[in-house]
Amino acid sequence: MNSNQCSFCGRKRKEVEILISGNEGFICENCIEQAHAIVVENAQKQGFSPADSMEDLKKPKEIKEHLDQFVIGQDQAKKQLSIAVYNHYKRLLHAKTENREVEIEKSNIIMIGETGTGKTLLAKTIAKELNVPFCIVDATILTEAGYVGEDVESILSRLLMVADYDVEKAEKGIVFIDEIDKIARKSDNPSLTRDVSGEGVQQGLLKLLEGSIVNVPPQGGRKHPDQKYIQVNTQNILFIAGGAFDGIKEIIERRLNKQAIGFSAEKMAKTEDDEYILSQLNAIDLRKFGLIPELLGRFPIVTYLDKLTKETMIRIMKEPKNSIINQFVELFKMDGVTLKFTDEAIEKIVEETMEKGLGARGLRGTTEKVLEDYMFDIEASNEIVLTRDNIKF
Ligand code: ADP
Repeated sequence: MNSNQCSFCGRKRKEVEILISGNEGFICENCIEQAHAIVVENAQKQGFSPADSMEDLKKPKEIKEHLDQFVIGQDQAKKQLSIAVYNHYKRLLHAKTENREVEIEKSNIIMIGETGTGKTLLAKTIAKELNVPFCIVDATILTEAGYVGEDVESILSRLLMVADYDVEKAEKGIVFIDEIDKIARKSDNPSLTRDVSGEGVQQGLLKLLEGSIVNVPPQGGRKHPDQKYIQVNTQNILFIAGGAFDGIKEIIERRLNKQAIGFSAEKMAKTEDDEYILSQLNAIDLRKFGLIPELLGRFPIVTYLDKLTKETMIRIMKEPKNSIINQFVELFKMDGVTLKFTDEAIEKIVEETMEKGLGARGLRGTTEKVLEDYMFDIEASNEIVLTRDNIKF
């Protein structure tokens, strides 16, 4: 072993800045950098890859168990999502087999639930678990081609970006379209005037959802005449849409009441129960809400998320792996401060948040506010115990 040169590139000691010795040789800074680049590139390559055999594919139960660690409650939605996602990736494996006669169709999903009930969180957690590229788009920024806003193709630009422009990987990704209810047709009758923000966008989305080859502007936003496009096949991209669908309950109720005429009083009383009503949700109601039938046809799975009760909100504060409480305890720990919340303090934070109507999304903000003074003067004490009496908003 020559101590005067890099064992990898052969550069002499005086030609390099650093020469690190190992058991059997030496390495210079240039070779370290190159090796590092290879490691990074390799890690990225391995980054996203859904299972490529049935053995590797996580079963619905496993997917749900994983979701349970991050998302509290919402059992029905978790179950339906786990099955849908499992079937989706099974479908991709099936497409590789010899039996092409039976073509399995895609099962995009619509999730309905008030803001901050965990729709985005569910989609995000699933994508992470399956190791596939994932992006979130807000349906309200999309408009029909030629109008102010973004073309529907921009959705795929984002997915491509997340997949590091690896088209093959992007083509197996998951897209979460938020606020899908905001592009509902405003009235039940197709209007004569053009509805740029609603029906037009729904029409635009169809071609992405049904599985076709779409020309995607790499940078997103508007298409530009001399821009080079990247072709993306959307056949295997799973679309999950979410929305609050304000007023959907009344629509279901009306339908149920209509059907309930002539039924027993017991059944009528049952229709008053919120959860029961939502569990009866189907495509007819969504159509009534203003989604066009063609679009609904491409979202065969409709699931709903429960309203968050006080008890669920308290569990959300404490239970998920990266719960809000754990996050702040960790932050304070870095300054050597022990932070504790009594159950009553947590309850009060939840009560305060519920008044804001932001769902669980508001919990972080409220907690942040409560801890503001303590964080500002972080060195004031070694232990902070938050109780019902000493928390201020
Ligand atoms: P939305 O239903 O509006 O998409 P999100 O999924 O974005 O709501 O939820 C906002 C935040 O609230 C999440 O990042 C998470 O911290 C918290 N949250 C909401 N619902 C749940 C839940 N069921 N379990 C755990 N955390 C939740």
